[in-house]
Amino acid sequence: MCETCKVHRPPRSTHCKRLGKCVLRFDHYCPYTSNAIGFYNHKFFILLVTYGSIAMTMVEINLCCIFYDYYFHSAPEKTIHWSLWYLLFQNGFFCFMCYFLVAIQQFLLFNNLTFKEFHLWWREWHKGKKKVYDFPRKFYKTIYINIQQVMGDDYLVWGCPWKNVLSNDGHYWE
Ligand SMILES: [Zn+2]
Repeated sequence: MCETCKVHRPPRSTHCKRLGKCVLRFDHYCPYTSNAIGFYNHKFFILLVTYGSIAMTMVEINLCCIFYDYYFHSAPEKTIHWSLWYLLFQNGFFCFMCYFLVAIQQFLLFNNLTFKEFHLWWREWHKGKKKVYDFPRKFYKTIYINIQQVMGDDYLVWGCPWKNVLSNDGHYWE
């Protein structure tokens, strides 16, 4: 039962303080999208970080080519504007941040975990209260089903940014 919303809270859902609502299969609150990531938008979050990191990698490669051309095949009429240096470092920083998010999200996706569930275990493990074999595997089925539960039943549209068809309604988890 949620004390604030006065509703029955299904398993894996959490009351998000910043949103002021209960969120089904709560993953985390994302400050960049100003939204809680949960049952209905987790797929879009995963696609955002995945495609974002691909796009930023392409930008970074292009920038590296420009700099390489300038310093190793320098033509006197060419100059490098300071904003390109800024873009190189800023894009590089966000690129690595995105890789980190993609890696975490893939790991959680394959293990049928939310970030919150993983974080709770991690914190206890760090304090020595939980062991590696206590790793939460309560909702683990097979890797394929684990992915389906977030990305949708039809694997052909896992990579497409439209609403996923889920056999689960987010209220009942076995
Ligand atoms: Zn609530």
